[in-house]
Amino acid sequence: MFSNIRPLIGVLALQGDFREHLETLEFMGENCCLVKDINSLNQIDALIIPGGESTTLSKLSKAFDLFEPIRNRIQSGLPTYGSCAGMIMLADEILEPASGQESFGGIPMLVRRNAFGSQVESFEQDLDIAGLTYFGNDKSASTKYRGVFIRAPWVEKVAPEVEIMASVEKTGVSHPVMVRYKNLLATSFHPEITADSRIHGFFVDELVKKARV
Ligand code: GLN
Repeated sequence: MFSNIRPLIGVLALQGDFREHLETLEFMGENCCLVKDINSLNQIDALIIPGGESTTLSKLSKAFDLFEPIRNRIQSGLPTYGSCAGMIMLADEILEPASGQESFGGIPMLVRRNAFGSQVESFEQDLDIAGLTYFGNDKSASTKYRGVFIRAPWVEKVAPEVEIMASVEKTGVSHPVMVRYKNLLATSFHPEITADSRIHGFFVDELVKKARV
């Protein structure tokens, strides 16, 4: 699809840790920019929705007239990756949303916000990620991936066509924390705040450069 040009990857810069996502993409040498308005949204070939607060992302994207345009671009196949609050924004359904809270949608799944508990119950855990063969710039990285979870959601229910790439077990029940559906990727953890760029590498190589249109 992008044989001669380098795709431009935008990071939604309304709220949350968008700078960390941008820095990871810059470190990887990708062509990237912040998305704050309709002009920048119209130029990008892929989008990252950062972690932060999904209720605020929902409100601000409406206030900046970006809600419908982003929803439409995702529906038309824009490769998009959402981390944490970004995962919530990519879910077709949110369990017990805050009043007026809406998601862009795109992945047929139901997510539970703050599923692992409050801020003090934030944690790190080694994950086995199915299909993560991309080792990025860190040649010493192991096949395990250390996930950082901060007031993280989990996937409560998922349509059979959604690929579950990683799960976390809690009281004997396995909860998906990384899913892929067509050109959409979502993690309930935050790769942007670690030095391990494999998740971004996977997104760029597998979902952006080989976009399934
Ligand atoms: N709990 C937040 C929300 O509901 C997500 C937290 C995060 O992105 N670290 O949006």
